[in-house]
Amino acid sequence: MGENNYLMIGAPGSGKGTQAKKLAAVMGLPHIATGELFRDLDPNVPVNKKILDWISQGNLATDDQVNALVKIRFAKPDVQNGYFLDGYPRNVSQAEYFKNISQVSDIIYIEVPDSEIEKRIVNRRVCKSCKAEYHLLFIPPKVAGQCDKCNGELYQRKDDNPEAVKKRLIDFHGLTEPVIPFYEKLGVRIHRIDGLQKPEKVFEDILESIGYEKK
Ligand SMILES: [Zn+2]
Repeated sequence: MGENNYLMIGAPGSGKGTQAKKLAAVMGLPHIATGELFRDLDPNVPVNKKILDWISQGNLATDDQVNALVKIRFAKPDVQNGYFLDGYPRNVSQAEYFKNISQVSDIIYIEVPDSEIEKRIVNRRVCKSCKAEYHLLFIPPKVAGQCDKCNGELYQRKDDNPEAVKKRLIDFHGLTEPVIPFYEKLGVRIHRIDGLQKPEKVFEDILESIGYEKK
C-alpha cells in the first residue's frame, strides 16, 4: 500500500497546481494533472478525437471520460512509489471509482476564502501574442494593457470574469469539497493548509504537515 499517495484539493486559483508540481519535484514523485492527461491525448485515435471535440465545444469532461483516462495513467509503473494527483477526483462519484484504482494516503487541502479566489482570478490577464500571464495586483504590466515582453495586447480569459468564477466556486464547494469527508471516513489523513500565505510558506507548511524531511 502506498504511503505517498497524495491528492491535492483546492479551489481554482488556490495555487494547488503550482504546489503539486513543486512537491512532486522535491519528493521525486510524478505530478498527475488531469488537465494535462487530456492535452496529451493522441487526436488520431478515434475515441480520443470524440473526447477532444466534446471538450473543445466547451463541455466539461464526463466522469466516464476522466475515469478512463485516469485508469490508463495509473497502469504506468511510475505511480507505484507514490504520486501527487491534481484535479481528480472532482466529485464523490469519481472518488468511488478511484477507490478501486489506487488507495489514497493523504489529502492536501489548500484553503483560500472565496473572496480572495475572486480577487485572484478576475485580475488575471494574458498576452494575446506570447501568452505571458499577468496579474493586475501581483504581477502588473509596466504599461497598462500591454505585455512587457512583446508589447502584445493583454486580455482577460473568458472564464476569468466574476460570474464564471462564482459558478466555479459553487461547483467546487458543492461537488469537490465533499470528496474530503468521503476520504476522511476511509481513514485518509487530511492536511488543511492556509493558502492565504505566500506560496513559499504554503509549500513549507505542506512539507511540515506531511512530515517530509528535506535532504
Ligand atoms: Zn506578450
